[in-house]
Amino acid sequence: MSTVLYLVVPCYNEEETLPTTEKALSELMSDMIKRGRISENSRIVFVNDGSKDKTWELIEKYTEENILIKGIKLSRNKGHQNALLAGLMTVKDECDCAVSLDADLQDDIGAVEKMLDEFEDGCEIVYGVRSKREKDTLFKRATAQGFYKFMRFMGADVIYDHADYRLMSRRALHELENFKEVNLFLRGIVPMIGFKTGTVMYERGVREYGESKYPLKKMLSFAVDGITSLSIKPIRFITTLGVLLLFASIIMLAYSLVRHFTGHTELGWTSLIVSIWGIGGLQLFAIGVVGEYIGKIYLETKERPRFIIDKYIGK
Ligand code: UDP
Ligand code: MG
Repeated sequence: MSTVLYLVVPCYNEEETLPTTEKALSELMSDMIKRGRISENSRIVFVNDGSKDKTWELIEKYTEENILIKGIKLSRNKGHQNALLAGLMTVKDECDCAVSLDADLQDDIGAVEKMLDEFEDGCEIVYGVRSKREKDTLFKRATAQGFYKFMRFMGADVIYDHADYRLMSRRALHELENFKEVNLFLRGIVPMIGFKTGTVMYERGVREYGESKYPLKKMLSFAVDGITSLSIKPIRFITTLGVLLLFASIIMLAYSLVRHFTGHTELGWTSLIVSIWGIGGLQLFAIGVVGEYIGKIYLETKERPRFIIDKYIGK
C-alpha cells in the first residue's frame, strides 16, 4: 500500500495565486500518483481562511473539476496558524501524512518528495528548512532573521529558517491535537511533540502574485505571540532587572547620604528626575509584559474553539 499524502494549503485572499498553485500542485500530485509514489487517494486541501475575494468560489470550482482537490471553508478569518490547524485536524484521519505549505508556492514544491522519503525512513515530522534567502527582499530577510534569533534568545525553541512548510505523520497529527492552546504558534509547538524528525533543505522563491499577508506589523505581533505563548523568559528578565535596580538604588542611597552630609544636596535634581522617568517607564513596561501573559491566560481559560468549519467539500 502506498502512502496517502495530503497537502494542506491555507488561503487568505489568494485569488491571484490560486490558479497557478492549483495547477502546479495537481501536476505534482498526479505525477507522483502515476509513478506509484503515493496512493491515488492522496488529495490537495485548500483551507479558505475567510477570504474577502473570490478564493472560495475558485476552490469550489476546482473541487468539481478535479478529483484531487478538496476544500475547507472556515466560518471567518482566523489567521494563518488557525487555518493551518483547521486543515490538519480535518484531514488527520484520512491521510498517512500531511504536508503544510503556503498558497503562494514560495516554498519549493520539489521538496515534498524529499519529505516523503524521510517519512518513509521513519520520521514522524520532517521540517522544510530554507537554504538561502537570496530571493527575499533585504528587508524581509533581515526582519525574518532577526525574528528567529530573537525568538530563540527569548526562550522559544524554534527551528532556524523553518516556517510552516513541514510534513507530519498521522501519528504526529494526533499528538498535535492534544496541544489545546488557543494562542497557537505551531512552529514552537511541533518540536515539542518529539519523535524521530528529519529536515529537508530547499530554496525559497519570490511571491509571484498578490502580496505578503505578513507585513512587519503582523510579523511583530506574531513574534510577541510566539514568545509569550512559549516561554516565560521575559518575566524572568523583569525580575532580574528589578533586582539590579534594587542594588542601584542602594548605591544611590549611599551616594545621596554622602552628598547630604557634605552639603551638596541641591545637586540631586538631575539624578532625581532621571530616576523618576526611568523607573516609571520600567514599571509600565513590566506591567505591560505581565499583562501580556495575563491576557493569554484569560484567553486560554475561555477555551474558545480555535476555528469553526463551515463546509468541507470534495471527494
Ligand atoms: N494566510 C491565511 N490567513 C491569514 C493570513 C495569511 O491563511 O490571515 C495564508 C496565506 O494565504 C498564505 C500563508 O498564510 O498561504 C502565508 O502568507 P504569506 O505568504 O502572505 O506570508 P509570507 O510568506 O509573506 O510570510
Ligand atoms: Mg509567502
